[in-house]
Amino acid sequence: MQLPQDLHIHTTWSDSDSSVVPEQTIALIAAVGHARVRGISDHFEMIDTRWDDYRAEVQAAGLRVGMEVNGHEWVPAALDADCDYRIYHCWDRDADYRALEHLLATGQPVIVAHPHALGTDLDRVPPECLVEINNRYIWRCDWQAEYGPYVDRFRFVISSDAHQPNWLNQTIARHAAAELGIAETLLFDD
Ligand SMILES: [Zn+2]
Ligand SMILES: [Zn+2]
Repeated sequence: MQLPQDLHIHTTWSDSDSSVVPEQTIALIAAVGHARVRGISDHFEMIDTRWDDYRAEVQAAGLRVGMEVNGHEWVPAALDADCDYRIYHCWDRDADYRALEHLLATGQPVIVAHPHALGTDLDRVPPECLVEINNRYIWRCDWQAEYGPYVDRFRFVISSDAHQPNWLNQTIARHAAAELGIAETLLFDD
């Protein structure tokens, strides 16, 4: 069954992430088609100097252009990079929460990545942000306790965070979302 959306996918462009395998190419993800809407979100700090080439390859494959931004230090450069959406590591630091305002000012979607894995205080996250139910991390927490209080405050996206071809699924994230009564938000039409 094809999933509706998967906007958190890594590829060989994340070349200093040791979890990514050489087979995890943009071409493979385009060919597999596990989700109707797919976006590539490689680690921005690993691609910032090659942004135009990365963006061109993702677009040529018919995929949405995303990135994963690690904290406020990377936000100024990330704002200069043309993309469709941004996934953000919001660590529990004042400057990281402040940077969310700059990301939101773009008018493009801002997805707060796996907050429970980073210690993100969702009470400090503006409700205009989307919150991720992440297949790689969600099972490592009590999702009712971590996300239950926020189901009415945020819109949510469900994602794989795939670093390897066999991670191209959202099985446990969809189970958790269903238990939480969360309906995912689809960000793009095609
Ligand atoms: Zn992450
Ligand atoms: Zn990731």
